[in-house]
Order: sequence, then structure tokens, then C-alpha cells
Amino acid sequence: METRILKGKPLAATMREEVSARAAELRDAGIVPTLAVVLVGDDPASRIYSSSIQKAGAKLGVEVRLVEIDAANGAGEIASRLAELGADPHVHGIIVQQPLPKGVPGSVVDAVPFAKDVDGSTAESLGRVLSGREAFAPATAQAVVEVLGRAGIEVAGRHVVIVGRSTVVGKPLACLLLRKDAVGNATVTVCHTGTRDLAAMTRTADILVAAMGVPEAIRGSMLAPGVVAIDVGVNRVDDPDSEKGYRVTGDIAAEEALGLAAALTPVPGGVGTLTTTIILGNAVTVAARQLSPQASL
Ligand code: NAP
Repeated sequence: METRILKGKPLAATMREEVSARAAELRDAGIVPTLAVVLVGDDPASRIYSSSIQKAGAKLGVEVRLVEIDAANGAGEIASRLAELGADPHVHGIIVQQPLPKGVPGSVVDAVPFAKDVDGSTAESLGRVLSGREAFAPATAQAVVEVLGRAGIEVAGRHVVIVGRSTVVGKPLACLLLRKDAVGNATVTVCHTGTRDLAAMTRTADILVAAMGVPEAIRGSMLAPGVVAIDVGVNRVDDPDSEKGYRVTGDIAAEEALGLAAALTPVPGGVGTLTTTIILGNAVTVAARQLSPQASL
């Protein structure tokens, strides 16, 4: 069987065109879609990610405001800064960079109002996703749904096995795919380290989503022929043959999946390429509500 490689780049390019067109319309109407990227402390990787969002935003017509908060401020002070951004009518989306510095409780993000929580990080957003109410889901979970939808892969009625139950990927994705709507209506199984026979479970999947953070943990022998394999994992493994001394790999042994799976997302260049565009697109969606307050998120 020839495996269709579901590359993220062309999908992301189409999404960028859509977001950019929507942002231009808003700008014409005098609204500058704005995303606040909040950096608490000075994590170098978060700083790099922040500047890459800024660059991406500039290309799409979304203003990205970097808001730096000293980690020495207590959780109360950080929460009140987030609440201030939440109340600012010129800020449409807010993301708080992770990881937060030691000593800052994760619950501080709950100060972001759900309507501006464009990466679905707060307890309220997650509760809403669970209960099927309006909210943004975490961007990576949304990215998996986008990849499936834009690649024309039907999920309704099919068995999706998700390996990984994190709050940022596995659990919210299960909620999205379980929804009784056009996006979802799948039968969903979620596996984790407590799953007794992982291979027996993964072999029952029509669609397999690996979100484990374990390099190439899903072997070819764990895949049913014809499975759609979505690899969310992003892992660095030592590779003395590569210039950088490491290579990036997914959670699925891609070489073994080729010829067996009907479709496979590559790593790098798969699901992960969509997340920034999704976050910027969500900020544009929030901004559009200023024009038509009845519009849904
Ligand atoms: P996480 O919080 O560490 O969760 C990993 C999940 O996988 C846990 O539920 C864990 O089970 C499960 N797991 C780990 N090893 C397993 C095994 N051997 N068998 C069965 N289940 C196993 O990770 P995460 O934040 O969800 O991220 C997962 C992967 O996605 C990582 O590689 C990460 O880099 C990547 N990621 C990519 C993006 C992106 O593309 N933009 C965004 C987020 C994450 P337990 O719950 O039992 O421990």
C-alpha cells in the first residue's frame, strides 16, 4: 500500500491565506487583530517561540504584543496583569508561554478570560471543551482535527485510538473527536502508561494518534494495515551522523509505517506546523466578534 504523507506545510499555507484575508478585512474595518504573548520569567526557548509567533503574525496582519512579566512578581500580581489584558478591548487573544518558572502555579493562567484563551489553556476553556460549549481547545488538539479535516479523512463512526492523555493533547482531542457534530462522532479510545496491552489497542485503530513524547515508540507491528497515523510527538534523539548531533523524530517509527499505513503525518513538518497559525487565526476570530458580536468563536 502506498502511504500518503500528510505534510503540514501545504495545509498551513492554505490556513495562512485564510487567516491573512480575514485579518485584512478587519484592518480595513479599523480593527487590528492583536495577540498578547505573555512571557513570565526568561525561558530562552519560550523567547525564541515568542519571536517566531511575532514574525508569523507580522506576515498575516496580526499584531503580536510581547508582554514580559518578572517571575519575581507573585502569582497574584501575574494574574492581575493577565486579567488587565483580558479586559483590554484592543487585545483579542492571550497566550501564556509554558513552562512557567518554578514557583509560579499553573493555575495562574486561569486569569485569562476563556473568550480570549486562544490556546485553550484555562480550566474554563477545558471545561467548556469537555461540555461541548463554545471555547478554543488547545492548539495542538485543534491541529490534529485540522489535519484530518483538510486531508479529507472521515472520522465519524471510525475508531480513533489516541496514545497519550495529557491535558494539552490527548484529553482535549478525545473531547473534540467525540463531539456529535461534523468534526467528531468518532469512537475514541485513549491509551496511557497504564494500558495493559498497548499494541493490541493500537492495532484496532482506524486512525491512530500518537502523543506520547517517546521516540518511535509505535512500531510497525503495532499498526493495522490501512491505518491513518497521526504523529504528534516531537522528540530529539542523539545522532552523531547529523550536523547538529541530534535529529527530530516522532512517536511513530515512520520507516516501519511506510507501506503499511494509508496515511502518515511526518515529523518534523506535520501537525506541529499548524499550531502557530491556529493560534493567530483564533485571535482573528475573537477580533471579528467586534464587528459581529453574535459570531461564534
Ligand atoms: P506528556 O504530558 O508527557 O504526556 C504524554 C502522554 O503519553 C501521557 O499520558 C503518558 O501516559 C503517555 N505515554 C508516555 N509513554 C507511554 C507509553 N510507553 N505507553 C503508553 N502511553 C505513554 O506529553 P504531551 O505534552 O502530551 O506531548 C506529547 C508529545 O507531543 C511530545 O513529544 C511533545 O513534544 C509533542 N507536542 C507537540 C506539539 C506540537 O506539535 N506543537 C505540542 C504539544 C506537544 P501517562 O499519563 O500514564 O504518564
